[in-house]
Amino acid sequence: METPHAVVHYAEIGLKGGNRAFFERVLAQNILRRVEHLGGKGRVERLSGRFLVHLDAPWAPSAWEEALSPVFGIAYFAPIYLVPPDMEAIRAVILENLPEGPPRTFRITASRDDKSFPLTSPEIQRELGAAVQARTGWPVRLKGAELDIGVEILRNRAVVYLGRIPGLGGLPVGVSGKVVLLLSGGIDSPVAGYFALKRGCRVIPIHFHSRPFGNWMGSESRAREMVRALGRYGMEPYLYIVPIGKQQREITVQAPVAYRVILYRRLMMRVATALARREGAKAIFTGESLGQVASQTLESLTVVEDAAGLPVLRPLISLDKTEITALAERIGTYTLSLMPGDDCCQFLMPRRVVTHPRMEETLQAEERVEMDRLVQEALDGATRVEV
Ligand code: ATP
Ligand code: MG
Repeated sequence: METPHAVVHYAEIGLKGGNRAFFERVLAQNILRRVEHLGGKGRVERLSGRFLVHLDAPWAPSAWEEALSPVFGIAYFAPIYLVPPDMEAIRAVILENLPEGPPRTFRITASRDDKSFPLTSPEIQRELGAAVQARTGWPVRLKGAELDIGVEILRNRAVVYLGRIPGLGGLPVGVSGKVVLLLSGGIDSPVAGYFALKRGCRVIPIHFHSRPFGNWMGSESRAREMVRALGRYGMEPYLYIVPIGKQQREITVQAPVAYRVILYRRLMMRVATALARREGAKAIFTGESLGQVASQTLESLTVVEDAAGLPVLRPLISLDKTEITALAERIGTYTLSLMPGDDCCQFLMPRRVVTHPRMEETLQAEERVEMDRLVQEALDGATRVEV
C-alpha cells in the first residue's frame, strides 16, 4: 500500500501554552528534514494533537517507517488514506486494503474532530468492525490487537490507516537547547548521545585523540562514522576533533602515575567546557556508568567533574554494560565501536590507576603541569569537521 500521506501523533503530556507551539514547530521541521533527507518533498499540516504529512509522491510503508521511526517526539504514526468523510468510502478503503495472511485479531479505533458527522465514534467502530468481521472472520480484541485500524473523521476528509507504528517518544531534537557530547570510540558514549537527543537536545560531539601518537586516524574515522550513524536520530552532521597527544605526553612525564588518567580527563573537561561556551551549549554529556572502570567510581567522577564549568550529565550512570551494549546494537552504533583505532585513554595508559582519588592529591598532581597552557594548546588544535 503506497500512499503520499501519513498521520503523526505526538505525546502531549507537559505541553502547555507557547511551549506547545514551539514543540510542534520543531517537530514539524524535524519530520520534513528527515523526509527530505530520504528524497521526499512534503508539507506538514497541523491538527490538534497530531500532524498530517503530505508528500508530492506516494511512499511504501517501509519508506515511511524509515523516515519517521527515528524522529524523537512521536508517540506513533501510520501511513494513511484520505477519503471523503462518509461511511461507504471509509468501509471500501478498509476492505480493499486488509492485509492478507493468517487470521488475526483486530480493533477499530475511531475519533471525530467533526461532531456533525452522523455517527458517534462507538457507532463507527461497531459498524466497521462488523464489516471487517463479515469479510475475514477475525476476532475483535480491544487490548493488544494485532491490527489496529484507525479512522479519524475530519471536516472534509476522513483519515484511515491499517496498522500503526510506535514512535520513539522523547522530545523533538532542538526543544531543549544545545549540549556537547564527549564521544570516544567506545560502546557507551554514542548511547549517551542518543539519550541526549531523546530529551530534545541538539548534540555537538567532541572527540579527543592522541595525534600524533597511536592510530589516531582510526579513532577519528570511527568517531565520524558514529556521528553519521546518529544522524538519523537528529545528531548534527559535524563534530569537534581535538588532538591531545602532546599534552598527554607532558602529563605523563610530569604527573604521578596514579593520577595521569584523572588529569587527562580534567584536561578534556576544560577543553569541552570552552568549546561548549563557544557553541552556546549548556551541558556536557558523557557515557560514564558508575563503577564500570576505575575512572568511574564516585570519587573519580567527582574530581573529574570539578574541572568542568558546566553540568556534566551521564544518562548511562545506572545501566549495566550488557544493557548499554543491547542499546548500542539497537541504535546501530555497536559494530562501529569495533572499528580499529586507539582511544586516547588507551594511549599512555598506566598500569596502576587510582580508583579513589582525593581532591587534594588531584590538585597537587595538577600543580606539576601547566594546565592552562595545555588547555590552550589543545583548543588551538581543535577543528570542526563535517561528516
Ligand atoms: P566509551 O565506551 O564511551 O568509550 P568507556 O567505558 O570506554 O566509555 P571511558 O573510556 O572511561 O569509558 O570514558 C568514559 C567517558 O569519557 C566516555 O563515555 C566518553 O563520554 C568520555 N571519553 C573518554 N574518552 C574520550 C575521548 N577520546 N574523546 C571524547 N570523550 C571521551
Ligand atoms: Mg572509552
